[in-house]
Amino acid sequence: MSQREFLDKLKGSRELAERLSNGQLCLNCLGRNFAQVSTGLSNNKRGELVNRFLGKGKIKNDTCRVCDNIFQSLEHYKDMIIKQTRNIEFETFQIGTRLSSELIEKEKYHLERFDAKQCEPLKSEINRELGKLIEKQTNKKFNAKRPDLNILVNLETDKVEVSINSIFILSGYKKLVRNIPQTKWDMYKITVEGIIAKPFMKLTKGSGHSLHGAGREDRDARCLDFRPFVLEIKEPKKRKLPLKELKKEINKSKKVQVSDLSFSDKKKVRELKASKYDKTYRVMIQFEKTFQEPERLKTIIGTINQKTPSRVLHRRANLLRKRELKNIKWKRINNKRLQLDIKGESGLYIKELVTGDDGRTSPSVAEKLGPVKVISLDVIKIHKNR
Ligand SMILES: [Zn+2]
Repeated sequence: MSQREFLDKLKGSRELAERLSNGQLCLNCLGRNFAQVSTGLSNNKRGELVNRFLGKGKIKNDTCRVCDNIFQSLEHYKDMIIKQTRNIEFETFQIGTRLSSELIEKEKYHLERFDAKQCEPLKSEINRELGKLIEKQTNKKFNAKRPDLNILVNLETDKVEVSINSIFILSGYKKLVRNIPQTKWDMYKITVEGIIAKPFMKLTKGSGHSLHGAGREDRDARCLDFRPFVLEIKEPKKRKLPLKELKKEINKSKKVQVSDLSFSDKKKVRELKASKYDKTYRVMIQFEKTFQEPERLKTIIGTINQKTPSRVLHRRANLLRKRELKNIKWKRINNKRLQLDIKGESGLYIKELVTGDDGRTSPSVAEKLGPVKVISLDVIKIHKNR
């Protein structure tokens, strides 16, 4: 909107403009009272126009009774911000301001006194004007939605606090060896997460990491299909990353293999956590005695009733849940050994489906063919497209 239009609109508010103009305000605070009258002008410019409208020349107030001339100190805060973000790589930022209790009181008093309904909060003007200064000096972009940095200007303590938002990397992993847990667990030093995060941590100098997987396999199970995950790196000092090289670096481990890496966000983490993929497992099982009539396995396809497995009962509530066993195929290895391919709904406990877990899971392989134990277990397919 043009200056002329703004001046036109002021005609309806002459009395308020008059009172405010005489109220010992800086141009920003004067103009801010008319912030919602029009867009496209700074409050400082609006303040100037209000005075022109009233036929006054340039008025200089020594001390603004609302903001204590905070707008003259913005350069000071800008310099602090530049200094504190010097060694951080970022493209976008947002600024928040914590007013001192004194300024909060003054603003409140002002708003009550003048009942200025089209006034903008002092905070948001400081955030915006400071943002402009930073943008101008650094070429970084103010972005309130998904900023790389959150900058908090604390006027009470005269300090600037900078927090670096995490980066999120989307990919999928295969676990090619047994006996490494997905994430940190007990005394296990090697984890899937650790292997994947290591080269990222080296490059980004982050303060920590988390791996958010679409489910997890047992520690002693391999995962031979790519399991989707998002790796979160906390407080990275660098965020432009050579993802292709990082993939190569991770895959050198021979323990874990990742698919193509791409940048992602927090939303994807929630999506993965909520995902419920069917999975196919390959299980080697060993019977106590020679098994007979493996065809009977067909009869357990359908709903499986599982009470919380005894092996996790110490940390999970004892519940009964129902999960679908969608398919089961078998291959005879010898008189006592079978290899099973089991397709089940997300959350179906496979070891218990085989052993019956002393009757806690029913029906089960043991129920049909006799006492049996699991020799090895692998995830061979994660059915991502249903
Ligand atoms: Zn002011």
